[in-house]
Amino acid sequence: MDLSSPRGTIDIYGEDIDYRNYIINTAREILEIFNYAEIITPAFEYTQVFSRSIGENTDIVSKQMYTFPDKKGRLLTLRPEGTASIVRAILENKMYSEKLPLKLFYIGNMFRYEKPQKGRMREFWQLGIESIGSDNPIIDAEAIWILNLFFEKLGFKKLALKVNNIGCRKCRKKFLEEFKKYLRPEKNKLCSDCRKRFKENPLRIFDCKKIDCTEVLKGSPDISYYLCSECKKNFEEVLKCLKILDIKYRIDKNLVRGFDYYTGTIFEIISEDLESAQNALGGGGRYDNLISDMGGADIPATGFAVGIDRTIILMKQLNIDLKKSDKKSKVYLIAMDKISQIYSTLILKYLREKEVVCDMNFNIRSLKKEITWARDNGYNFIIIVGEDEMKTGNLTMKDINKFKQYKVDWKNDKEKIIEIIGAQNID
Ligand SMILES: [Zn+2]
Ligand SMILES: [Zn+2]
Repeated sequence: MDLSSPRGTIDIYGEDIDYRNYIINTAREILEIFNYAEIITPAFEYTQVFSRSIGENTDIVSKQMYTFPDKKGRLLTLRPEGTASIVRAILENKMYSEKLPLKLFYIGNMFRYEKPQKGRMREFWQLGIESIGSDNPIIDAEAIWILNLFFEKLGFKKLALKVNNIGCRKCRKKFLEEFKKYLRPEKNKLCSDCRKRFKENPLRIFDCKKIDCTEVLKGSPDISYYLCSECKKNFEEVLKCLKILDIKYRIDKNLVRGFDYYTGTIFEIISEDLESAQNALGGGGRYDNLISDMGGADIPATGFAVGIDRTIILMKQLNIDLKKSDKKSKVYLIAMDKISQIYSTLILKYLREKEVVCDMNFNIRSLKKEITWARDNGYNFIIIVGEDEMKTGNLTMKDINKFKQYKVDWKNDKEKIIEIIGAQNID
């Protein structure tokens, strides 16, 4: 029997958990300031939630979804992204009847059946925001602002923001006609997937990473010439807002992002410290038709998503350290035998009530081994508990980094432990 984890999945532990918590906490702090509330949706949905929203011709729906019938034969899919589920939740719970815009964020695991490689797993974690119910370009700029601020706060240095406007349904039609006209004589240079896309959904050709296809796209018409006056005005306002906020950006006419539901302003943030194949840190855009397409009212929306696992890998690759604000002292009790272990729980109880981070040895080993272990695991203090200590109540507390030693009268003056730790926390 094979007891390894399924292909494309990983266990997250140790240092990676520190990175992950740091990333999530940074996001939570920013999102609280920007007034976003958390939402949690199921990890699986009825398949049509995704096929109808993301688009039948996208790589995600046509190739990458984990879809299976349940015991009653209902077709379910593990979520490949966050937005469709959130729109489903908003419609189902009639959240749109509350004051709009709804500003929501989510953190969750997503699933895509892809060829696993570093930074691209079949189960991966994303965090994202969705602003539902405003067509104001300021809210697009706000999403870009948050995305940029988030990576700045994490410690990324050379960031570049790519923005584009892919038009509304009206003006995109005109662009697609011109685009097809341009592609027709070049069609044979495209890969087989893109030839299929040419017929069914030409915009998706921009998702192709194959060199031949990207070469063909280099001379393709610029969508900005085909935007209607409203799309043009909206995009100008987003850019104006970014200027006011002093956020640097670059217009990339070939940026489309791989979902059919995008309309209008879309964006992506990249790290210029990394190779182009895997430099995208996160991105998103407006999806003004998705809610009505899924059976709701005509409600405009925008959002973005960031890959958490990917961000961890990139932070390590770029040697970005975690800014540890938490330098609290930790105390490790070393009991010399079984009876001292039981006695030590009393000391643990006292310390934990005082919110001191502490632990004790559950397995009896040599004192030397215990001290080494304590040091390796970030403890500053040890307290030794043996037969004598239990009898007299006189404990020895050692600062293992500064090689200082303190006597504590446990029975009459246990507060001294806290005083010693407190003094250490100040310097
Ligand atoms: Zn338009
Ligand atoms: Zn292609």
